[in-house]
Amino acid sequence: MTAGRAMVLRRVGGPLVAEARAVPEPGPGELLVEVAACGVCRTDLHILDGEVPARLPVVPGHEAVGRVVALGPGVEPGRNGVPETLAEGARVGIPWLGGACGACRFCRDGRENLCDAPVFTGCHRDGGYATHALADARFVLPLPDGLDDAHAAPLLCAGLIGWRALEAAGDAARLGLYGFGAAAHLVAQVAIWQGREVFAFTRPGDAAGQAFARRLGCSFAGSSDTSPPEPLDAAILFAPAGELVPRALAAVRKGGRVVCGGIHMSDIPTFPYALLWGERELRSVANLTRAHGHAFLAVAARAGLSPHVETLPLAEADTALSRLRAGQVEGALVLRP
Ligand SMILES: [Zn+2]
Ligand SMILES: [Zn+2]
Repeated sequence: MTAGRAMVLRRVGGPLVAEARAVPEPGPGELLVEVAACGVCRTDLHILDGEVPARLPVVPGHEAVGRVVALGPGVEPGRNGVPETLAEGARVGIPWLGGACGACRFCRDGRENLCDAPVFTGCHRDGGYATHALADARFVLPLPDGLDDAHAAPLLCAGLIGWRALEAAGDAARLGLYGFGAAAHLVAQVAIWQGREVFAFTRPGDAAGQAFARRLGCSFAGSSDTSPPEPLDAAILFAPAGELVPRALAAVRKGGRVVCGGIHMSDIPTFPYALLWGERELRSVANLTRAHGHAFLAVAARAGLSPHVETLPLAEADTALSRLRAGQVEGALVLRP
């Protein structure tokens, strides 16, 4: 049996531990994927910190790109929700939604992102910080050509959740993005491609982040403690900082919308009702459905999305997470086994 490697989170707080592991056999309904690249997402930090509860030990990573090595028993491409292009050698992405029950009211309503019994990759089942990963064949996303493995990886969560947040923001012509990391740098590209005007807000003093946002075509880039030059139609919050909620509400016009894109956020401070008055709306987006995944990947190809990535060896996963925590990333970090 061939040897594989994985970075394993054994306890809350880490560190991740490198383990040699036998390459697993796919069980019924599963695929074995040889991982070529896996993006590093803020949710991985929340799992490390225990803010998002995970089954431990776990191999994190839910932006995995790789090639199918083997199909498990009963996997029939094109049947029972298994993508029809699945075959040995096919390139697939393994996203955050690794499974859904199919029976709860949300699954029945086509909202499997809200499933009552979800299986999240790199949280409830092992993810992509590894040389190999198993995945439920019904939940992988076939990846279009055009982007190499490392550049395709951030599409699988940062891009996809960003896309869902953008849809939730409605037809806002003037869009604010709070927190200019992996998700925002992709959403900004989509929004500008759609003809919207994008206003980027970074941590105070993050001149490099603001310059990055302007280079991508944002018409304004400033600190998150400043007001935009004109009222926004909608704002999306990617930074996990609750104090940004009242600031974003204050920045949107009457009838405007504030969308929280993160899975975890620090507490939102109390704020005057006047900030919500005027039919402003506040909502979150949670997880993804497979339909959103397919739709977004098609949009990413049409829009010619160009993710900015920096690759690090898999063994440096802890370094990658520390840099993400410190905000020392332009675009997205991607691990390569
Ligand atoms: Zn369900
Ligand atoms: Zn993620």
